[in-house]
Amino acid sequence: MASQLCLPVAPRLTNLKPLMPQAGDVQVGICVAIQRSDGRIHLAVVTEIKRENAWVTVEWVEKGVKKGKKVDLETIFLLNPALASAQHPTPSSLLPLSLAPPSAIGDQCTATRWIATIPQKNETPSGDSPALRVPSNPCLMKRKKSPCLQEIEKLQKQREKRRRLQLQIRAQRALNVNTGNPNYEIMHMIEEYRRHLDGSKVSSLEPREDHRICVCVRKRPLNQRETTMKDLDIITIPSDNVVMVHESKQKVDLTRYLENQTFCFDHAFDDTASNELVYQFTAQPLVESIFRKGMATCFAYGQTGSGKTHTMGGAFSGRDQDCSKGIYALVARDVFLLLQTAAYEKLGLKVYGTFFEIYGGKVYDLLNLKKKLQVLEDGNQQVQVVGLQEQEVCCVEDVLNLVELGNSCRTSGQTSVNAHSSRSHAVFQIILKSGGKLHGKFSLVDLAGNERGADTAKANRKRQLEGAEINKSLLALKECIRALGQNKSHTPFRASKLTQVLRDSFIGQNSSTCMIATISPGMASCENTLNTLRYANRVKELTLDLRPHHLCFYPVGPEVPRMLETHVRNSKTSLQRDGVIKIPCIQSEEEEQAKHTETLFTPLGEDTRTSWRESRQPPGTNIQETAGGVNYDVDFCIAQLLSILDQKIGILTEIQKKLKLLQADLQKKTQCSGANGKRSDLQSNGKR
Ligand code: ADP
Ligand code: MG
Repeated sequence: MASQLCLPVAPRLTNLKPLMPQAGDVQVGICVAIQRSDGRIHLAVVTEIKRENAWVTVEWVEKGVKKGKKVDLETIFLLNPALASAQHPTPSSLLPLSLAPPSAIGDQCTATRWIATIPQKNETPSGDSPALRVPSNPCLMKRKKSPCLQEIEKLQKQREKRRRLQLQIRAQRALNVNTGNPNYEIMHMIEEYRRHLDGSKVSSLEPREDHRICVCVRKRPLNQRETTMKDLDIITIPSDNVVMVHESKQKVDLTRYLENQTFCFDHAFDDTASNELVYQFTAQPLVESIFRKGMATCFAYGQTGSGKTHTMGGAFSGRDQDCSKGIYALVARDVFLLLQTAAYEKLGLKVYGTFFEIYGGKVYDLLNLKKKLQVLEDGNQQVQVVGLQEQEVCCVEDVLNLVELGNSCRTSGQTSVNAHSSRSHAVFQIILKSGGKLHGKFSLVDLAGNERGADTAKANRKRQLEGAEINKSLLALKECIRALGQNKSHTPFRASKLTQVLRDSFIGQNSSTCMIATISPGMASCENTLNTLRYANRVKELTLDLRPHHLCFYPVGPEVPRMLETHVRNSKTSLQRDGVIKIPCIQSEEEEQAKHTETLFTPLGEDTRTSWRESRQPPGTNIQETAGGVNYDVDFCIAQLLSILDQKIGILTEIQKKLKLLQADLQKKTQCSGANGKRSDLQSNGKR
């Protein structure tokens, strides 16, 4: 082994002369064993002999470099005793000898065995070749390695594995960079963030009770177009009710960073959730309520293309939709199942279906060739959609036929987001009637996609007006659901056609609502996704549990974790942003003022008091998102302000009326007491 790496220069065997006794035994060109200053022994070729000085020059090749040195004859004879017996050592016969110590020279077997016993013989002249650490001789391989050696080998293997892995990662990164992925850096940051999240737990602070309002979020998978465009998935759902958005931001010095925003809902479904699973946690718990004279409503809200119709109507394959896998069909399935149970069979209920759409503030019957319908309020303040077709259904199959018929009629237009977006609200209702009278109703609403003004900025006027109308109705809807959730006596359902038509769903103790906010995962949809999440969060403000071990998610100053902790303990937060905390102390101040106001208005009715309390809320309460620099959409803001004004004007007019009545009442009383006073004066004068 060593001889392969430390070769003697080729000996010129043809020039060999017969060995002389003593010094004469050494000839130019023969191979001899030499010892190096570090103790190693190997072969070298004699190139010069100085008999008078009793030394020879030898040469050898080491790592491809020719080397030489002077050795005194005495040492040569000591190392090569065979020379003394006047035998010429041939290179082949000297080969094992070359590595042998002086004592073993002449006995080649002994030499080999001896080599195996001394570890330094495994070293090369350079001392670092791993090949030399393992002897090639099979008998040496059998020897047990020392634990130390084994440990070193293990470490070395691990090091090599690590290096290989790093090389692979580097190659992969280079590939990503080379393929021109502009979001590579952000992708890496999001991956890192998710890795840190893995072992942690994030959950809601509030126990999930049976609320009248349930708000859920559903994330759809990246679609083929987004994947082709190398869009990134910026949504993380770390637990079953928390949604995180990783927003890419840029500093002034152009370095990019992530802003992670966290929202909490009743349930959060990731891209692997099926329609059936979403249904189980949203609409299914409400189905039975309609058998108990309840009004149930389920809304799908979200950006165009985020999966509202997929959730409500069923999964698409190409342009065809499998209606049997949507929430419409699943509700129908459970309604017919419950209808057959002993408890409800005796009620003699009949099931009817209606399907209509609201487009541009007008109602069209989807089961009657899109006939335009009138919405009127009768003397009992009941809202009626005049002429709406109610078709009796006897099984799920009948319901699916209605859904298919209605879907084929829906209005669709072109948006920058989705080529087949629906720009109308579609309302599918399953109505239970007993003896021709309404018993219960389940309204399933596939809302028109919310959109930013920026998306419609370049569109024609018709599209812009459509967008404004959609946003206005969505705002009104939000306010109505909030009013329902907070048991407010005033519900601003007149603010839009949608809320007007769904009045039943917001009024009365038997109403319950669920909202499924659908979001697209792509980075390109970030702004829309945040708008959807903020909207859903406003509908029902849930708080987030930020126990100390979660605080690592918030890369803010060191004192902030303590602040957050105290804050979570002492108060409730509606929405947590990195380092930005909304402390609802303003709320308590307002309540104090409201209490004070109540005492002032004791003569007025309870409803007026509530209205006053509502009207005391500054406009900013309703447009907090806008004020917070969240929404810069002018259309959206105008629609929002108009909706607020609609409510406030109604309330103020009511207060004005009651104040006038109060004033008149007071005046009457004063007049009466004045008259009584005069009369008593007259009487006393008469007595005198
Ligand atoms: P919207 O009604 O909100 O405009 P759609 O329901 O039409 O959006 O969905 C747009 C596209 O995304 C459809 O092709 C649909 O198949 C797909 N999609 C939506 N949600 C999901 C999901 N959860 N899983 C798989 N594909 C989905
Ligand atoms: Mg749709």
